[in-house]
Amino acid sequence: MSYPWYTHAEYLLSRYGERVYRIGVDAGFSCPNRNCDRSGGCIYCDGTGAVAVYQREEEKSGEKAEGAFLKRLCSIEEQIERGKKFIRYRYKAKLASLYFQSWSNTFAPVEKLKRIYDHALSLGSFSELVISTRPDLLSDEVCSLLASYKSPEREVWVEVGLQTSSDETLEKINRGHDRKCYIDAVKRLHQYGLKVCTHLLLMPCFDRRSTYLESIALINELGVEAVKIHNLHITHHTKMEEFFLKEGCIALSSIRRHVSDVALMLAHLHSSCIVERLMAETTKARLLCPKHFPDKRDILEMIAREMERNGWVQGCLE
Ligand code: SF4
Repeated sequence: MSYPWYTHAEYLLSRYGERVYRIGVDAGFSCPNRNCDRSGGCIYCDGTGAVAVYQREEEKSGEKAEGAFLKRLCSIEEQIERGKKFIRYRYKAKLASLYFQSWSNTFAPVEKLKRIYDHALSLGSFSELVISTRPDLLSDEVCSLLASYKSPEREVWVEVGLQTSSDETLEKINRGHDRKCYIDAVKRLHQYGLKVCTHLLLMPCFDRRSTYLESIALINELGVEAVKIHNLHITHHTKMEEFFLKEGCIALSSIRRHVSDVALMLAHLHSSCIVERLMAETTKARLLCPKHFPDKRDILEMIAREMERNGWVQGCLE
């Protein structure tokens, strides 16, 4: 099915002549928004991926710390090897990108970041380097390091969590940064020639439809190159779960609401912005609710039909 929005697959095909598959790596980073005892953090964060064994060992000093760091590099190597085998076997993939996916992947001193990125990039030929992080972890020094990995053959993308452009909601969900911090980070990334993918979270318990459209307007204004839109999921071991169990209910997007909200957001999104994701996917074991959401393909088709029904394509209402 062809979709009335600018898909990621379309972009990759036009840029590289074929599909590029991501190899996701957990490089053992942590998050400054959570405490060592896993308290704190965004109210929907379940700390999945908190396997920062190497990180914890590195907190000790001396030789042990260096040994732990080397183990961390080995783990990255193993993950990349596994990833390569998987995408070759499953997709007959020829091109791959290296995706630092878990936690905040710029949360370390720059010298350490450089050792990690250098090592990972030396393990293959990657069309893209993709770094997922928070807006408050993107100093000039970090941006400059990331920009040094750009080449005519390789793009560098930074995935930045904004979630919502409302300062009030950012405060309520305990994001630990505000809208201005995000704006500054995106401007800095662009100054260094880095491409930005912004994550948005649809939270009807806190935001209105008008807030979603304000977030889209901000993305348009900043010239953000790509977007991922997620519906809020309540997972186990989160503050949201505690709240849900206490109150007995919480406003989440129904299927119908999600489809119509996303369709409207896409109609307002600039036509050059790549759409990488339109719903959250959480493993059953972690998910408390919503329980009965269709799978990704069905939701995409429903959004496409909704847009078609309204006579919309991406950017038509910008
Ligand atoms: S920024 Fe990410 S890892 Fe950190 S607390 Fe929020 S959701 Fe969790």
